Amino acid sequence: MEKKKVRTRYAPSPTGFMHIGNLRTALYEFLIAKGSSDGKFILRIEDTDQNRKVEDSIAIIYKTLQQVGIHHDEGPDIGGEFGPYIQSQRLDSYLPLAEQLIKEGQAYYCFCSKERLQSLHEKLENGNLVGRYDGKCRNLSQEEINHNLKMGIPYVIRQKMPTVGISEFCDSVYGPITVANDELEDQILIKTDKFPTYNFANVVDDHQMQITHVVRGCEYLSSTPKYNLLYEVYGWEKPQYIHLPLIMGKNPDGSISKLSKRHGATSFQDLIEQGFLPEAIINYIALLGWCPKDTREIFSLSELITHFSVDCISKSPAIFDYDKLTWFNAEYLKAKSDEEFLALCMPHFKQIFGDKDIDKPTLIAILKPRVTKLTQMKDLLDFLVNLKEYDISLFENKKSKSTLETSLKMLKNTLNELELLTNWSLQEIKCCLTSLAEKLGVKNGTLLWPIRIAISGQSVTAGGAIEILTILGQNESLKRIKLGLEKLQKHQ
Ligand code: GLU
Repeated sequence: MEKKKVRTRYAPSPTGFMHIGNLRTALYEFLIAKGSSDGKFILRIEDTDQNRKVEDSIAIIYKTLQQVGIHHDEGPDIGGEFGPYIQSQRLDSYLPLAEQLIKEGQAYYCFCSKERLQSLHEKLENGNLVGRYDGKCRNLSQEEINHNLKMGIPYVIRQKMPTVGISEFCDSVYGPITVANDELEDQILIKTDKFPTYNFANVVDDHQMQITHVVRGCEYLSSTPKYNLLYEVYGWEKPQYIHLPLIMGKNPDGSISKLSKRHGATSFQDLIEQGFLPEAIINYIALLGWCPKDTREIFSLSELITHFSVDCISKSPAIFDYDKLTWFNAEYLKAKSDEEFLALCMPHFKQIFGDKDIDKPTLIAILKPRVTKLTQMKDLLDFLVNLKEYDISLFENKKSKSTLETSLKMLKNTLNELELLTNWSLQEIKCCLTSLAEKLGVKNGTLLWPIRIAISGQSVTAGGAIEILTILGQNESLKRIKLGLEKLQKHQ
């Protein structure tokens, strides 16, 4: 038999931001499709719950997928053979299918009021049968049904679930799953607003769009037998199910719980705002639940396509570790060419330095090995534009054998030499200061320490004294050295 072409789908509900878990689902769906020959990755918007719909969500979905390089082959914006790809535009598909089941005795109109269901749920909760409908409308006479319909009583359509036996399926990650059928509520297929429920629409769409693999969070594991019962009543072929482990966050006491805002950013957009690169986020997210066969960790998207395999997805909860993501980010930043790195830095430079002409190559050389997130730049470089008030004690440093006296002497000599320098470049400054240290008979550190303090006002800086002098330019450097000298002289 000819092997079916792989078709996967990412089916987000437009409820706002792009959660990290959703992005992982999209990524795995994409990798499964692209890892097979001629596989297709489909984007479908699941907006049947109109109350949860958030303006602009669809735009966020497109933008995120585009930023991370996950391109869909079919979707609302580009169309395709099985469109429309927005559920609210597919309403014609669902109702006739639900009515077909009514005719076949597999579904029924349920006229129970909200209030009745509410009180039923309360009662059931006390009796521990949470959420089960009692089947009151399951066996209404045709006359009653006709009467209610004629009276315009609002109704939903429910599927008749089997009351005996078990339902079983095998998940690709969690293995065999079994539920007793009497635990399954008669699920609603069509709501009073005539919209399908998510449970119904996802099955109909997955079938009509010929989806072969369904990837979703493990919170859907317990609903899957219900979906399967739908496939069975229609005689449709079921997809392969791939449920993903929960993403957890680490609590301050060392315990773990479902990732939430109190752990840190939970959406792609927030991570981007915090200075993480899309490619680092995607690489890290790929490893949340999937273990490569060896210890390798850095994978580009195209490498992920080659290496990813469903059988290496783990069912144990994945822990989102922000430090690890930061490590990935730093690795990705280091691997950038100077041009790429500069392009990433430019918006930050603009913010920090305005239109001032700065020595970009020197800055890049300082930043690239040090920066772990682009957003650190403001803090790292602020001293270059704002020399803050600093304490004179910073001039004292054991390691470089610096005291207030040596610092005074070093700065005086430095000022004299640097004032004379005609070519203000890193090389020239380096040459000048190395020979000055020699002339004074001190180690380079003894000379450079007080210079660094005077020109930065900080004991720890991105870049050493020579680089900072280069970036500051001659005027500003001399001005700062004079200020340092004044401080030290006043102290004498
Ligand atoms: N619309 C569902 C959600 O956003 C998707 C679940 C599924 O993949 O079927 O959670």
